[in-house]
Amino acid sequence: MAKGRVLSGMQASGMAHLGNYHGALKNWVRLQDEYECFFFVADWHALTTLFQEPGRIRKHCREIATDFLACGLDPEKCTIFMQSDVLEHAELSVLLGMITPVPWLERVPTYKDKQREMEGHDLSSIGFLGYPVLQAADIAIYRADFVPVGEDQLPHLELTREIVRRFNHIYGADALVEPKELLTEAKVLPGLDGRKMSKSYNNAVYLADDDETVRKKFMSAVTDPQRQRRNDPGRPEVCNIFAYHKLYTKPERLAEIDRDCRSAAIGCVDCKKELIQTFFTLFAVIRDKRRELEAKPEHVRQVLDEGAIRARSVAQETMETVREVMQMGWKP
Ligand code: SF4
Repeated sequence: MAKGRVLSGMQASGMAHLGNYHGALKNWVRLQDEYECFFFVADWHALTTLFQEPGRIRKHCREIATDFLACGLDPEKCTIFMQSDVLEHAELSVLLGMITPVPWLERVPTYKDKQREMEGHDLSSIGFLGYPVLQAADIAIYRADFVPVGEDQLPHLELTREIVRRFNHIYGADALVEPKELLTEAKVLPGLDGRKMSKSYNNAVYLADDDETVRKKFMSAVTDPQRQRRNDPGRPEVCNIFAYHKLYTKPERLAEIDRDCRSAAIGCVDCKKELIQTFFTLFAVIRDKRRELEAKPEHVRQVLDEGAIRARSVAQETMETVREVMQMGWKP
């Protein structure tokens, strides 16, 4: 028996990287066994930053959907679809936009963060500012009980809750459901340069990367900057490679690496090579499956089509209620 309905999405602004895997996908795979889950590829959200490059979004949609399936999302257990295949998201977003005060949007901390992160991009659009309204619509349209979030996304979810509360208050009904957070034990993984792993920083390892690319990326990762020579003792706590070892390497071996790094018994090159081997072993199933799926785009498309049918039927029900309480439309 499902414990409630869960909704989450991933922006189609690039392929899924390890940060996305540990921050979201890995949890989603677990959640699909416990909850009634809806997971979507957010292509409209990608337009907020990539509106000048539509071809890229189309490509990323296919890639992200392939990543979803490769990681173990199962269309028999959850609903997987593309945001733009369910037009009701847009309708609800327009309606919620009517009741959302602009200052609520301006104070969202990630609004400023994203502007910094995406420096050089034109982020002056209404779509970018209104991103949280579309996000509120994405969630509310499925009357989702829960949204899996990390601590950093709590303000976004709180805004969704405020918008839903305002809607229910104005229209005197419990037409929309206030979603609760499902705090995930997501691991925050640094990028190869130590900053947050992000497509825009060009510091990410992707699930789709081939062996050679993975090797090159890990081998060029920043380690302890004070460890200039092989004989210099290192500080694992400031090293990005060690952050990955913490996630992938067995505890006994991790303790040895920690000790040997501090005494300079192990060099960074060997330490990185060991990590690469461990990564290949742990991700073999996902990466093999991804390669298989890449060769079957019709299958991926079919999963999305079937998912959209299921998603649409829930979304249409919600919109009937919303139109009714807002007294939209007219019949003699
Ligand atoms: S030996 Fe390993 S943990 Fe130590 S600084 Fe080098 S890469 Fe990092």
